[in-house]
Amino acid sequence: MPVSDYLVTIGLEVHCQIKTATKMFCSCKAGFGYEPNTNVCPTCLGMPGALPVLNEYAIERTILAGLMLGCSTPPVSRWDRKNYFYADMPKNYQTSQLDLPLCIGGEVPLFAWAYPADAALPPHEGAVVRRVKLDHIHLEEDAAKLTHYAGYSLVDYNRGGTPLMEIVSAPDMSTPDECYAYLKSLQQLMICAGISDADMEKGQMRCDVNVSLRPKGQRELGAKIEMKNINSMSAARRSLIYEIRRQAEELDRGIAQVQSTRRWDDALGESIVMRTKENAHDYRYHCCPDLIPVRTAPLVAKVAAEKPELPDARYERLQQQYGLPAADAATLVGELPLCAYFERAAASSKAPRKVANWVINNLTAALADKGQSIADCPVAPEKLADLVGIIEEGIVSNNQAKEVLELLWSDAAISATDAAAKLGYKKADSGALESLVDKVLAENGDLVALVKGGNAKLINALTGQVMKQSRSLPAKPNPKLVTELLSAKLGL
Ligand code: ZN
Ligand code: MN
Repeated sequence: MPVSDYLVTIGLEVHCQIKTATKMFCSCKAGFGYEPNTNVCPTCLGMPGALPVLNEYAIERTILAGLMLGCSTPPVSRWDRKNYFYADMPKNYQTSQLDLPLCIGGEVPLFAWAYPADAALPPHEGAVVRRVKLDHIHLEEDAAKLTHYAGYSLVDYNRGGTPLMEIVSAPDMSTPDECYAYLKSLQQLMICAGISDADMEKGQMRCDVNVSLRPKGQRELGAKIEMKNINSMSAARRSLIYEIRRQAEELDRGIAQVQSTRRWDDALGESIVMRTKENAHDYRYHCCPDLIPVRTAPLVAKVAAEKPELPDARYERLQQQYGLPAADAATLVGELPLCAYFERAAASSKAPRKVANWVINNLTAALADKGQSIADCPVAPEKLADLVGIIEEGIVSNNQAKEVLELLWSDAAISATDAAAKLGYKKADSGALESLVDKVLAENGDLVALVKGGNAKLINALTGQVMKQSRSLPAKPNPKLVTELLSAKLGL
């Protein structure tokens, strides 16, 4: 049977590190890039008798994530121990949540711009292609980081005990493209609320995908195959494409699938079976006796006021408020620091559409060129707005403005107008420019005749002549203006 004769069911479990100053159950510093095993204490090292203290801020961020995704929060939320034995967890249990997590239900919107570039999107209206049902979101602690070498492994307990949100979807997706869009959309949502930086390369967001196939017409789901710790969106997509084909081929040959966990090897491009059958009861979950349940009502009330503008709402607003094309709005929504920069620049500009174009194209190119991020861009947004302003006034052409941008980059004090003047770009004295245009027209009778005869493109040759002779003028003219002047004189 071809793959298309099977129904594919995909679910995702996403672990997302919450951006907090301290760990989940102790006051050790949370964060990335410290000397290994320096941010540790008896609690996060699992010493006997050390007791946990809740990080209220992490609980609030999780509730905020739930509010953004339309989850409900039970009045009382509880902590459970998930028992397992491994070097990344010195207590031999992870403090997590099973029956009464902080958020229940909800949906993740799949934004149209979050799909892979080559995906065929189903018909949809507006920014949200569809919404994927969530099962729940719970809060737990991260495990320590293990690094494996030939014959030995090293463990860094700095990461152990940092707050980790686990966002569990319902089995509500059916294609690898949806899985990609789910991760991308979720990432944008977490970043826009400041809940997490959700950088998959840094392990701040990690995902387990599970997928099952069943023949069309069969009601119950097929055996669930899980692939753990996938660390990029494209790897998640690739792993699913591979796994769906592998399962279909085996089912075709009469090989029944068994519930199991596989490891996705992205370099090899295949999944390898690790272990079969693993259920919640294997972990002997039980209520944590060291932590009292959380009454959520005051936290829900507090966090409700912090709900940010969601990417789909911002996408609509950018188009309405500034008249941006949909593609530009999507680009900006996907790059929040760039979007913030744009909105500051647009606030002091009469041409916000053009400002968006400059931010997305020329400014981004300049940043990439210099290996800088928008956060350390030396050109203030207001100055970029001024630069677009002098293009609009005809003082510089688009290309000349790129030179002006370079000067603004190296000299933080200079204004856009002064930078243009320093480069010799001034609004040309119309009288002087006009007589130069007349002179060029008189000198090039044959070209003029051809242009008038219908060869409109040759006007560029006349513009070139004017530009060449413009050294006699006090300032270099804007070639676009020259062409306009020539056209007017020639009655085109
Ligand atoms: Zn600690
Ligand atoms: Mn987990």
